[in-house]
Amino acid sequence: MKQSKILILGSIALDSIETRHGSRKDLLGGSATYAAVSCSKFVKPNLIGIIGSDFSQTHKQILIDSCDSLDDLILKKGNTFRWGGKYFDNGDERETLFTELGVFDQFAPVVSKVNEEPDYVFLANIGPDLQLSVLNQLKGKPTVILDTMNLWIDISKDKLLEVLGKTDILLINETELMELTEIKDFYKAAKQIQSQGPKIVIVKHGSRGSVCYSEDSSFSLGVIPNLIVKDPTGAGDSFGGGLVSALAQGLTIKEALIRGTVMASFCIEDFGLNALLASKKEKIDSRSLFLLESLKH
Ligand code: AMP
Repeated sequence: MKQSKILILGSIALDSIETRHGSRKDLLGGSATYAAVSCSKFVKPNLIGIIGSDFSQTHKQILIDSCDSLDDLILKKGNTFRWGGKYFDNGDERETLFTELGVFDQFAPVVSKVNEEPDYVFLANIGPDLQLSVLNQLKGKPTVILDTMNLWIDISKDKLLEVLGKTDILLINETELMELTEIKDFYKAAKQIQSQGPKIVIVKHGSRGSVCYSEDSSFSLGVIPNLIVKDPTGAGDSFGGGLVSALAQGLTIKEALIRGTVMASFCIEDFGLNALLASKKEKIDSRSLFLLESLKH
């Protein structure tokens, strides 16, 4: 069987995180990193991103181990993108403490030959202008999965709607969905999004799970219960990385949602990428089975 090719675009960052379980500085993070590491547990993706000259060899090795090709990983003189976040005690909400663009400011992705014809593209959270630039350089008709954040709805809504028009599956959290559509009812909001492009809309409700709206049906999925959430950073991106890997392996959208949820469940159990990197097949399978069973009740 031909192995489907996955391309992931997003941020590669050094994160400084504060949660009620402690604080950490300059952890390897970024939307593309979390997505790629999550995806790589099943299918090694290719990555498009930018890093600075301060990016350590240890961090680079994680990207090398997780990806099939890093041909489109740009190394520029200067600092890697840095982001700082502090979580409130309810665990689902956070505030951004700082964003330092560094070399990200000069990021102009160039898609090389090896990445021109992916089967699946995961546009992880990053500016919609960059997402459009990559889509416009691709040949063929890949399945496009899009993630975003409030910032882009606030400052770049028109461009985001343009990307939405080229998207097959949208991943969005509930507050972003309300902000984007200005509709409070999730079902009606999802239907409006479907009329703008994506035929599948997956709404993330944080620790309450997610709901998948396809054209003629919808279903909801809970989360893995009783976990100690040490650091929620990257949960959405790990969800996306898991989901795209499952679709690339020919699994159904239900199975893909389960995998995304399972990979997010590992992500939040420790700071940064620790728990995701340490996740093992046996535990991934048992958590997947748990969620599959939950769908039957
Ligand atoms: P998530 O927790 O899934 O929203 O993703 C968190 C990751 O997004 C962190 O590792 C950050 O480095 C990254 N991030 C934060 N702000 C931005 C931004 N404006 N653009 C791209 N990535 C960002």
